[in-house]
Parts: sequence; structure tokens; C-alpha cells
Amino acid sequence: MILQRLLIQLTGAQLSNLLNITKEMNFLAKHSLLPFFGFVLVLTAVSCKDDKTLPSCEGVTYEYEGADGPEHWSELCVDYVDCGGKVQSPVDITNAVDDASLAAVARTYSNSGTHIVNKGHTIQFNYDGGSTIVVNGESYELLQFHTHTHSEHTVGGVSAPMEIHFVHKNATTGKLAVIGVFVEEGAENPILKHFVDHLPATKDATYEGAVSFTAQDLMPSDLSYYTYAGSLTTPPCSEIVTWIVLEHHIEATEEQIHAFEALEHENARPVQALEGRTIKHHKA
Ligand SMILES: [Zn+2]
Repeated sequence: MILQRLLIQLTGAQLSNLLNITKEMNFLAKHSLLPFFGFVLVLTAVSCKDDKTLPSCEGVTYEYEGADGPEHWSELCVDYVDCGGKVQSPVDITNAVDDASLAAVARTYSNSGTHIVNKGHTIQFNYDGGSTIVVNGESYELLQFHTHTHSEHTVGGVSAPMEIHFVHKNATTGKLAVIGVFVEEGAENPILKHFVDHLPATKDATYEGAVSFTAQDLMPSDLSYYTYAGSLTTPPCSEIVTWIVLEHHIEATEEQIHAFEALEHENARPVQALEGRTIKHHKA
């Protein structure tokens, strides 16, 4: 506020100076005043915006509907402002451009034990260390995967009943590469079969199981993919994600999908505007 007041005093002094000049250099001053007033307006607008302070995110929760729903996430607290950004996810996949220069997703996955956590808004499987993918020449380690019911990404406006996000992180840059896999209703899924009866029912509850499995078995064999630059789909919506959404889906029964949906409820953020981004397509 002090800064704003100083600005007004300063501009007041400058204004009277300019008005004096006006008497002497009438024609010139008229033309220089217009951009000057524009400049003052812009400065005032910027300082007003800075005056609107958001609360700390400590203890703040977000929801998928109502006053704390996706359209309000960026206003909930100071660390969630990126949710109002222009590089957000998910998106509707449409008009993807074939790009023969894109490399295949190179996975080096090891088996992991079963470590399931109910995160409140999603069911998450923490993955044992040492599994990596290489994207654009950079290595990312698989940390966890989790589910959304229904899918967050859509293709030509159509969603799938479920989407699994495999979250990989580059430890040096902190950036993420997330592989999205659509799950359609169909045959029983032989991997999910081990877990659906053991999903922890309440927030923060966990399940440690004896089953060892590989994330590779929860992906289709054809690794054709769509890719674009985006964000986390939950607050703080950080714009640090290279998205790799697989073109081909896997299957699970309606009952298997429902086991997840019954616990995480509706947890799909609506699709975000592309804002000029291009979605590229790699055919495996
Ligand atoms: Zn996700």
C-alpha cells in the first residue's frame, strides 16, 4: 500500500510537470500524455493485484465440486495459483500431430512389492525404487501410480471409465514424466485382480501385500502415445509434467473399476484449454 501511495504522489508531481509543459508544447504533450495515463493505469492494476493476498496452503483441502472445486483451486491458497495457468492438464486429445522424430518410450521396469495407500482423493500404489523410463534423453524413476475414475484425459471429447497415472520423476531437475493409461470395461484384469479386495477403505490407510508385479503389465503392449507439456492434475497443479498418454487401453471388469470408484469417488479434473499447445503423436 505504501508503494502504491508513493506511486500516486510521484505520478501527481509528474502530472503537474507535464501540464506545465502542455502550455508550452501543446501539440507534443497531448500525444505524450496518452501513453503516460496508460502507463499509470497499468501500474495501478498491477499493484492492486499484488494487494490480493491468498492464505497459506497449510491445512487447505481441495474437492472436485462446490466452493473448493476445480474452478476455484487457483484461489484457495498461495501455492495453488498455478492451477489458473496456461500449461494445465488434463486436456482433450484432438488434432494430434504425427511426429516421426519422437522416440519410443524406453522402459526399464523391475518388479515391485504391493504398497497401496488411500490418499483420500485417489488410490495410490507406491513402487519400489530402481524402475526408470527415458524420455527426450532424460531418465525418470517410477515412484508411484494412482487411479482416476473416470479418465481425466479425453480423446475427441470421450472419456474412459478409468485412467491410471504412472508418475516418474527426474531426481536432478525435479521434473515429472507421467504415463497415462486408459482402462476400458472388458475382460478381468489379471493384475488388478490381486488388489481390488484389499484397497484401503479410509484416507491414509495402507495395505502391504505379498504380490510382486511389474507396472509394465498394467500397460498395453502397443506403446503408441500422445505427448504434450502439462501439469499435475491436482493442486498445486505444477507445470512440470511431460505427459505421455498411451493411445491403446487396457481392460478391467466393471466390478474392478467400481472397486476404485467406490473409494475415490469422482476425481477427474475437467479438461483444460490447450492455450496454443500442440499434442504430438508417436506411432509405435
Ligand atoms: Zn493423476
